[in-house]
Amino acid sequence: MNKTDVVSGNLILVNPDFPIHETPNDLVYINNTKIMLRREAAMQLDLLMKEIDGWTGISPVSGFRSLQEQQEIWDNCLKESGIEFTEKFVAIPGHSEHQTGLAIDLGKTQKYIDFIRPEFPDDGICGKFKSAAAKYGFILRYPKGKEHITKISHEPWHFRYVGVPHAEIMLKYSFVLEEYIEFLTQFKFPNDPLIYKNAEKTFEISYLASGNYLPKLSAQLCVSGNNCGGFIITKWGT
Ligand SMILES: [Zn+2]
Repeated sequence: MNKTDVVSGNLILVNPDFPIHETPNDLVYINNTKIMLRREAAMQLDLLMKEIDGWTGISPVSGFRSLQEQQEIWDNCLKESGIEFTEKFVAIPGHSEHQTGLAIDLGKTQKYIDFIRPEFPDDGICGKFKSAAAKYGFILRYPKGKEHITKISHEPWHFRYVGVPHAEIMLKYSFVLEEYIEFLTQFKFPNDPLIYKNAEKTFEISYLASGNYLPKLSAQLCVSGNNCGGFIITKWGT
């Protein structure tokens, strides 16, 4: 594995400390809108919405943003709402999860949907979405009570795709992505993996620091950079 791969994959950490380094090249439109996500995230979102009949009451508000779009949102918000509000709810350009193509803001469908802070209540169809999200690899990225770690205010509308089984494990242990990435570094590849079982499969998850050699393995395997110095290797069997 080489250094450039560290910045790619479903598990990259993008936050005030770690900027985005890559531009996604497999973006697709969501539910016949102009809003885009990376292909795998879009497919899983679609399956999730099918299960709960979600598009009947939930609207996509914002998905992938280029650096320029993030800068425009930042500038407009600053002009209209001031620095305190902007810093609370808009990520610094270059540090927004929306630039990964793995994050989406969703809002309860209604006449007026706030672009910066769409309504996403705990009950009804939005509640159903939250309950089903982890099974399809999505996490609530900025939960209440973790603001000191994420450095972003509670955002009930912002969901991030990390994939299965990672979303399920994060939910089980109430980890935000910062905590999960840190937690995984103790499970050294290849001898000391975290074993996780869900109803269908057994997973082995381990960590490899950048610059190490990853041998060819026969099992089904997925490798993601973490955008902060290492790789997360997910191996699954039946
Ligand atoms: Zn967002």
